[in-house]
Amino acid sequence: MEAQRRYGKVTDDLIALLIEIVGGGNVLTGEERQDYSRDEAPKLKPVLPEVVVKPEDTGSVARIMKLANEKNIPVTPRGGGTGLAGGAVPIYGGIVLSLEKMNRILEIDKDNFVATVEPGVVLADFFQAVEEQGLYYPIYPGETSATIGGNAATNAGGMRAVKYGVTRHFVLGLEAVLPTGDIVPAGGKFVKCSTGYELTQLLIGSEGTLAVITKIILRLIPPPGKREIIFVPFNSLHDAIKSVPAILKQRILPVGIEFMERDVIDMVEQHTGKEIPLHDYDAFLMIIVEADSEDEVHHIAGQIGEICLSHGAVDVFIPGSERAKRNLLEAREQFYNAVRYFGITDLVDVVVPRSRIAEFVEKTKGIAAEYGIPLIAYGHAGDGNVHLHPMSRGRDESEARVKELLEKIYEVGVSLGGTISGEHGLGFTKKGYLHLAADKSKIDLMKRIKRAFDPNNILNPGKVLDLE
Ligand SMILES: Cc1cc2nc3c(=O)[nH]c(=O)nc-3n(C[C@H](O)[C@H](O)[C@H](O)COP(=O)(O)OP(=O)(O)OC[C@H]3O[C@@H](n4cnc5c(N)ncnc54)[C@H](O)[C@@H]3O)c2cc1C
Repeated sequence: MEAQRRYGKVTDDLIALLIEIVGGGNVLTGEERQDYSRDEAPKLKPVLPEVVVKPEDTGSVARIMKLANEKNIPVTPRGGGTGLAGGAVPIYGGIVLSLEKMNRILEIDKDNFVATVEPGVVLADFFQAVEEQGLYYPIYPGETSATIGGNAATNAGGMRAVKYGVTRHFVLGLEAVLPTGDIVPAGGKFVKCSTGYELTQLLIGSEGTLAVITKIILRLIPPPGKREIIFVPFNSLHDAIKSVPAILKQRILPVGIEFMERDVIDMVEQHTGKEIPLHDYDAFLMIIVEADSEDEVHHIAGQIGEICLSHGAVDVFIPGSERAKRNLLEAREQFYNAVRYFGITDLVDVVVPRSRIAEFVEKTKGIAAEYGIPLIAYGHAGDGNVHLHPMSRGRDESEARVKELLEKIYEVGVSLGGTISGEHGLGFTKKGYLHLAADKSKIDLMKRIKRAFDPNNILNPGKVLDLE
């Protein structure tokens, strides 16, 4: 690889300097590096970093970056490694900068409804800490072993975006270390800000290519009183998806509206060994609602059930018990693991205006059928984010054919007013499709921004876009 030759090598001298900064126990050069060679992107080959470094504070991150910049060593920031686009895979070797030890919740400020955390805080731990203080952080990307830093770097979304939005809507400020080693604070414990360029929002979703996020200030809200789930079977995906605007037009704002087809339900049942209620139909909506009281949440659930029934639903299941609700949510969280178990070639994360979801799924299934590749669809019907999996089912599908199919899928998404990734990011695996969604002037501006932050292109090079 051309770019690999232009980077420096990690030498014994450099390792000694890294040990000086973070201590010997926080520098890995042996077999343990394997754990840092991959993320959860399907089919991406692992790449071993030359060294893994685990700083425990911002000052150490700054010193590591300054050193790497001077020695021209590529640095790949890493949180929980749960990313789905290869963003944390060190494709040019060099240093993996694991933020796992910067995992302190620095403050939960109940007066201002704000939490300040280090980037390595694991989402599940954060949920628990916030709940213990009687507050609520509503952003729920399905994988709770991810870190808050990773969530911010990818602008993670998840199942509650219809009502609450995505990670960027709950980040008030950041502290970041630039590739040169400079420490830059952005935003703060305030809601309004019109003071210069909005660096917080620029860094969110930048996938570790512009700066290393070392602190995050998050907005919190009061917790909802009650939550209910409505599980609705339909005879066709078309009917299911067409019910979504009907619900929203009634001024009901669910937390999330998920859609899924029978194939996914079958796979999850086989994978988990747990039966899903009313599983014999072709398509389903899973709608999550929250309200202050039990009565109110039941009233809303009833209204949604009626709207769905008048738009082609064949039944409505409202679980009632906490256990049944949890079972349904857990089944939803297992979708990716289940389809992966049955053999996927890739993972599409296109977002389209939600009124175009049915058209998007129908068109792309038609195209996939021409290739003889089954396409599984599910996703966030309430916000237009569709996950498609071209299935290999054990066959060794040629990479070129899958790429051709993906290109056509992305073209359909863009032609319907959408874009390539709604929540997983471009990372390494999807950067090659950026030109389908962004014109030259936008890509040129992105390159200029990257160069302004990272003149030597050492921070997560080869992700999101290529400079050379
Ligand atoms: C089963 C499963 C379900 C999932 N469901 C969802 C979902 O519903 N919604 C969703 O949005 N995602 C989902 N994901 C994807 C993944 O959990 C998110 O992308 C998450 O935000 C990644 O966080 P992480 O800590 O694992 O980051 P990593 O995978 O470690 O890194 C992701 C990217 O962020 C960068 N990065 C990490 N930390 C920092 C930092 N401190 N500073 C700068 N850059 C950094 C990395 O370089 C990389 O480019 C799912 C993944 C799995 C495996």
